[in-house]
Amino acid sequence: MKLSFVIPCYNEEKNVQPMYKAVKDDLENCGFDYEIIFVNDGSSDGTLKELKKLLDGEIPVKIIDFSRNFGKESAMYAGLEESGGEYITIIDGDLQQRPSLALEMVSFLEKEKEYDCVAAFQNERGESKTLTFFKNRFYKLINRVTDTEFVQGASDFRTFRRPMAQSILEMKEYFRFSKGLFSWVGYKTYFIPYKAEERANGSSKWSFKKLFSYALDGIFSFSTTPLRFASVAGIITSLLSLIYLIVVIVQKLVFGIPVKGYATIVVLILLLGGMQLFALGIIGEYIARIYIQTKNRPIYIAKKIYKNFED
Ligand code: UDP
Ligand code: MG
Repeated sequence: MKLSFVIPCYNEEKNVQPMYKAVKDDLENCGFDYEIIFVNDGSSDGTLKELKKLLDGEIPVKIIDFSRNFGKESAMYAGLEESGGEYITIIDGDLQQRPSLALEMVSFLEKEKEYDCVAAFQNERGESKTLTFFKNRFYKLINRVTDTEFVQGASDFRTFRRPMAQSILEMKEYFRFSKGLFSWVGYKTYFIPYKAEERANGSSKWSFKKLFSYALDGIFSFSTTPLRFASVAGIITSLLSLIYLIVVIVQKLVFGIPVKGYATIVVLILLLGGMQLFALGIIGEYIARIYIQTKNRPIYIAKKIYKNFED
C-alpha cells in the first residue's frame, strides 16, 4: 500500500460521502494504491451509518468505531495504528482540506528523499482579530518555554513517511498535543501554505474556551517552566520581605517611628495567599497529569473495526 488517508470524523454525517468522493476524484489518476481509514470518534449522529455504506465501494476502506468521543488526537493515533501505507496523510473529514494537496505532498516526498514530512500551514485565516492576537501570544509563549518548535498556523493536515508514523505511535502519552508531538519526534518537515476552505456541513467543535484549555495543555505537556514560577516568585518575595524587615527595624529602633500596619498586613496576606494558591495550582496541573498518566489507560477504545479488504 502506497498511501493511507487517516480521517477523524466526529458528527460529520453530511460530509462523509462528499469527502469520500473528493478523495476518489482527486486521486483518480494518481497511479498508486491507497486506503482510507475513517475514525468514527463517538459521533452521536448518523456518521457510522454513512461510513458503513462506503464499505461497498471499490476503494479499500477501514472504519475504526470508537466506544465514545475520545477527541481528534486519539482518533489520529488510532488511524495511524491501523494504517498500512508507506505514506500516511492525516486530513480532516469536513472538506476544509483538499485531498489533491495530499497528492502534491506525496509527489514532493517521492522527489525529495531527505524530507520525511510535508505539513500544510495556513498563513491567512478568516479569524477574528482577538483570536489571532491570542494565538500570536500563545505561540510566542510556548516557543519561549519549550525546546520543541511550534509553528504557528501549522495544521494536522500532513503527509509523512512510515518511520515517522512509527515514532509518533511510540509516544503513548495520554495528553496528546499533536502539534508538539509532530515536532518533538524530529524528522525533516517541509511546510506548504494552503488556505482552508469553508466547512462543508456541520460546525467546528472549537470554542474559545476549548482552544484556551488546549493551549494550556500544550504548555503543560511540553514544558516544566511554569513550575519555576513558584521558585522565582518565592525567592523574590523572600528578598523583598527581608529588605522590608530591615526598613521596619531601622524605623523603629533608630527613628522611633511607630509602625502602622493594618492595611499593609491585609494586602500582604492576600497577595501571598494568592501567589501560593497560584503556585499550588501549577503544581496541581502537573500532578493531575502524572495521576492520569500513571493509570495507563488506553488512548482510545475501539468498539469495532470494519474493513472491506484484507491487510
Ligand atoms: N474531530 C474528531 N473528534 C473531535 C473533534 C473533531 O475526530 O472530538 C474531527 C472532525 O470531525 C474534523 C476534524 O477533527 O474532521 C477537525 O475538527 P473541526 O473541523 O471541528 O476543527 P477545525 O477545522 O475547526 O480546526
Ligand atoms: Mg474543520
